[in-house]
Amino acid sequence: MDAVVVGGGYTGLSTALALRAEGLSVAVVEARTCGFGASGRNAGHLTPTIGKDLPTLMRLFGHDRVASLVGLVELAIDEVERLIRVHAIECEYEAVGNVIAAVHPRQFANIDRAAAAARAFGLPGELLEPDAMRARGLPGSFLRGYHEPHGGILHPGLYVAGLRRAALACGATIFEESPVLRVEDGQRPCAHTQEGSVRGRVLVIATNAYARGLPLPAPLPAYMMPAYVQLLQTAPLNPAQLAAVGWQGHEGLYTAHEALESWRLTRDNRIVGGAKHVRYGYAGRVLPDADADVALRLDAVYRRRFPELADVEITQTWGGRIGFALDFLPVVGRTGKANNIYYSMSYAGHGIAMATYSGRMVADLVAGRSGPGAALWARRSLRLPPEPFRWLVFHALNGFFEGVDRRVDRLVG
Ligand SMILES: Cc1cc2nc3c(=O)[nH]c(=O)nc-3n(C[C@H](O)[C@H](O)[C@H](O)COP(=O)(O)OP(=O)(O)OC[C@H]3O[C@@H](n4cnc5c(N)ncnc54)[C@H](O)[C@@H]3O)c2cc1C
Repeated sequence: MDAVVVGGGYTGLSTALALRAEGLSVAVVEARTCGFGASGRNAGHLTPTIGKDLPTLMRLFGHDRVASLVGLVELAIDEVERLIRVHAIECEYEAVGNVIAAVHPRQFANIDRAAAAARAFGLPGELLEPDAMRARGLPGSFLRGYHEPHGGILHPGLYVAGLRRAALACGATIFEESPVLRVEDGQRPCAHTQEGSVRGRVLVIATNAYARGLPLPAPLPAYMMPAYVQLLQTAPLNPAQLAAVGWQGHEGLYTAHEALESWRLTRDNRIVGGAKHVRYGYAGRVLPDADADVALRLDAVYRRRFPELADVEITQTWGGRIGFALDFLPVVGRTGKANNIYYSMSYAGHGIAMATYSGRMVADLVAGRSGPGAALWARRSLRLPPEPFRWLVFHALNGFFEGVDRRVDRLVG
């Protein structure tokens, strides 16, 4: 093989597609089935978000660096749309954009900041005053917002299944149910599994926050903190319930909280949403994907945001892992004795666009080209401190975000 890719989510499959397009032979080695990780279980919002949010990025990095990052994530959305189109992926994609929404006037300033930051970079978008929110039929708890028209909503599992089919059709080999136990560094790096090994000229680590049982080569463990987020799904709304909630335009909604809530109406008229409460296992300890206490808290949030749907039951809750870097930006680069082990990870819960674009970024790196991804790989990635300081960093950040959000939510009642 020319290239061995470890992990079969958006990162691994888009990398397989991009490297096949360069003429390389590619094998993807996936521990479970492709899409088992975050790619098959996320909330389905394709948004132009990179880092925590645009106003925070501007405070951290200044106009010029942020301009390249904004350009990069816009290309990433185009790439998702291109792959859906070219490979005819049926994933219920609706290019309706997303609305950052305030649930209390206390959050109106956040909406103004998001709109001003988007304007500063010439991004399309529309400030939605309360009457415009109502005119669009958006659910009544979402008071004022900013519409980002680029992107939309999709069924994440169907999207990753489509990428898997496309990678196979393009000639990639996929080994599933094949956990990689060890990566051997060298001129021809190798992925070792219980049953056999695959060696390549290059090896790509595409396991993001799911790298269970695989010691990652240095310095990767210092670049990413895995965290857990949870979602819920309701029963399908009947016509009367649909009429009560409105939402004819199906725009994705995410709130102007520090730790955001996301909400979307699915093709079969269910509400999928949640996030907001983030958990972390000390020293990377594996936690249950779904936590009963978080499920109860999200149930209460759903009831508060959709009082018009008091009789609509939650039928499912689930959770998954996301990866965070200290600056919330994706971490892309290469390492290894022969500099031939590539990686892309840490999308801070905004990976549909950026994990999909990692295929292009890794292909550029492998070919020795510069490219839009240089905005990420040319920066010095910050190293997370070891435990117990890592745990303290998580709780300091999360405690701060939750505190701000709790104060707003108490006002909503
Ligand atoms: C609940 C939730 C909601 C989210 N909502 C959104 C959203 O609305 N919008 C958005 O943009 N992003 C969202 N995200 C983030 C997005 O889903 C991720 O950033 C993206 O899916 C990461 O893709 P990936 O391919 O890098 O990782 P993953 O999809 O996690 O794939 C990693 C793969 O590696 C495999 N693997 C792990 N260890 C091994 C091993 N030893 N050997 C072989 N294979 C291995 C795993 O089985 C897995 O399939 C959300 C994430 C979660 C969890």
